[in-house]
Amino acid sequence: MNSKIDRRITEILNKAEDRVPVSREEAMTLMGVQLHTRACYAIMETANRLSRAQFGNKGENHYHIGLNVEPCPMDCLFCSLTRKAGIFKEKIEFPLDQIVAWAKQAEQHGADGLNLMTTGTYPFARLLEVGRLLKTETAVPLVANTRDINHREGEALLEAGFVGAYHAVRLGEGRDTPFDREKRIRTIQVFRDVGLLWMNCVEPVGPEHAADEIVDLMLLARDFGAAYSGVMRRINFPGSPMERFGMISELEMARLVAISRLVMGDVPKAHCTHEPHTASLMAGANLFFPEVGSSPRDGRADTEKGRGTGIERCQRMQREMEWDPSLPSNCFEMKAANAAVVT
Ligand code: SF4
Repeated sequence: MNSKIDRRITEILNKAEDRVPVSREEAMTLMGVQLHTRACYAIMETANRLSRAQFGNKGENHYHIGLNVEPCPMDCLFCSLTRKAGIFKEKIEFPLDQIVAWAKQAEQHGADGLNLMTTGTYPFARLLEVGRLLKTETAVPLVANTRDINHREGEALLEAGFVGAYHAVRLGEGRDTPFDREKRIRTIQVFRDVGLLWMNCVEPVGPEHAADEIVDLMLLARDFGAAYSGVMRRINFPGSPMERFGMISELEMARLVAISRLVMGDVPKAHCTHEPHTASLMAGANLFFPEVGSSPRDGRADTEKGRGTGIERCQRMQREMEWDPSLPSNCFEMKAANAAVVT
């Protein structure tokens, strides 16, 4: 019977509530707390309260548009869009009028941001072109999710109309992917240097990941000032080489969402989770990614017709959990204020 909360846990929760940064050792102590215990619900409750106070009950929705499908030669083990997975044989680029229609649909439904995702070898110039087009077609802030970039490319993103970039150092980076962790961190530094918001998630979490590997990425996000950094679980597409490890449950994701929320302290503007589900909305998460176009978790080219959750459903889940998607975004408020000063 887990009736008592360890004094050490209570001390860490009090510290987190007072916005004193949680140390690595304290984060590891939280990671040792099991599901279904009173202590675990205390962690979730504290994270929930912290987020509601800091984000003012705003439910955020950053609309993911996957611009293209390809058998990607980067062959990240967890991704369905790889050459090795063999699900997609042809390159597909969604037509510009389809992308504009998705963006307008997002805007009509009150999306707070548009995340444009590309596969590993998508031409950077093309991403800029899409950015410039959407900048004229919608007023929704643009976020790029693409390969590693240098300062010149970072400035080009800004000029094309992007205000932020999603870029995660993935769990198993360099082992399950061909990418260099340090290079990915250098890209995050580029965003900071040129003035792009950096968006992040600890991902893609599976049952095989050790607590210290997960905590490492939580601390990286806090240290580099991520605008948001919650938790996304790995989805095993049929035939995935990661299938043997299984997947974590939504409840386990909520436990990790809560711990990452406490680690992030007063740094973030929102706290994300993926795929959308309600458990994490009572554990500190307030940000969902509705999805259309390509997705590294799907066997369908357009995830809107597959696993992807639409924006109306995301907003309905948020309202049911008493987060209000109609409030103004906290993530992009600074950018909006800066733009107002400039004009
Ligand atoms: S995660 Fe990105 S870079 Fe890696 S295989 Fe998938 S599309 Fe390519």
